[in-house]
Amino acid sequence: MKDAPHKPRKTWKSRTRAVHSGTRRSQYGEVSEALFLTQGFVYETAEAAEARFVQAGPDEYIYARYGNPTVAMFEERIAALEGAEDAFATASGMAAVNGALVSMLRAGDRVVAARALFGSCLYILEEILPRFGVEVVFVDGTDLGQWRAAVTPGTKAVFFESMSNPTLEVIDIAAVAEIAHAAGATVVVDNVFATPVFSDAIGQGADVVIYSATKHIDGQGRCLGGVILGTREFVRKTVEPYLKHTGGAMSPFNAWVMLKSLEHMDLRCRAQADSAQKVAEAMEGRPGIARVIYPGLASHPQHGLAARQMERPGTVIALEIEGGQAAAFRFLNALQLVTISNNLGDAKSIITHPATTTHQRLSEEARLSLGITRGLVRLSVGLEDADDLIADLAQALEAA
Ligand SMILES: *Cc1c(COP(=O)(O)O)cnc(C)c1O
Repeated sequence: MKDAPHKPRKTWKSRTRAVHSGTRRSQYGEVSEALFLTQGFVYETAEAAEARFVQAGPDEYIYARYGNPTVAMFEERIAALEGAEDAFATASGMAAVNGALVSMLRAGDRVVAARALFGSCLYILEEILPRFGVEVVFVDGTDLGQWRAAVTPGTKAVFFESMSNPTLEVIDIAAVAEIAHAAGATVVVDNVFATPVFSDAIGQGADVVIYSATKHIDGQGRCLGGVILGTREFVRKTVEPYLKHTGGAMSPFNAWVMLKSLEHMDLRCRAQADSAQKVAEAMEGRPGIARVIYPGLASHPQHGLAARQMERPGTVIALEIEGGQAAAFRFLNALQLVTISNNLGDAKSIITHPATTTHQRLSEEARLSLGITRGLVRLSVGLEDADDLIADLAQALEAA
């Protein structure tokens, strides 16, 4: 395997890194990155196999559960984009959340987490970790006083979504990191809604950043994937041993799809954020809509924090439809362009009713404490023309 003709440079700006970082070329000199769809790797001799099992050198592979050249290209490219020393690619976003937390925690450890979490993240923190003797304390992530009180000295980790799913609460990464670091805790951030394009979570104090690559990184709704970013020490000494033995690795095929998607992620996310802003502005104050939640609107309670913390306020909007679930369902069913599904970050605009889908598992009381009412819908804005989206939403509102 040869390096790219031009070695990646530190001075490259992010759009250049998105196209070139991590590239490895085979002896054929291909322009587009190769898909090494192989589980295993051949050794010249038995001695070479033995030596590689003792210590694999750079760009030496053993088995795709441990690593694969296409997966390595994806890891190196996303790490370069994120400004992280290293990355481990996983089979899904949840494999990344589970891998990052379980690999670092042991019985007796304490974790403090924001309460407003994606349903499966909440399941890991609320149901799985306590089973293994990890103490998990939940706080209102937007209330720094609660973080200060809960993050006692010796707390092992804090965990939060920098922008929560689906109610788009923005958590102050720098402020929570300061509290966590003073107590010696590792800051683990699920950064899906902020996207790799608009966020600099590591620059703001996160130690470990997690993405579901299924969302904006793929961006076209094809593959599941995830990634854990952090220091080389954390990724290779803590995360890798856990994931390579428990089977959470990303498939080479998915890595190839994700790698190529990184080349245009910046363009996609910017176009989607532009449309999200237009849609949010067009929906705010419209009859039939009680509230539009989007951090790019002045009405968002953390509008100022969002503007400081993220370059753009993201591609997802929450709408509170007047008339509860029945009206929300009539609205969803009347849409002609926007599809009802539960992914986000896709090129296609997607809408979901969290109370009956992604957050169905929660009690009504727990849902309401998170602001997930029966009238709330979550809209992921895609790459369609914003005018067409606004027209579709407007006609569905009338019909509802
Ligand atoms: C989707 C999502 C995940 C899980 O990712 P998968 O790829 O579906 O496993 C985790 N966290 C957040 C915030 C998400 O939106």
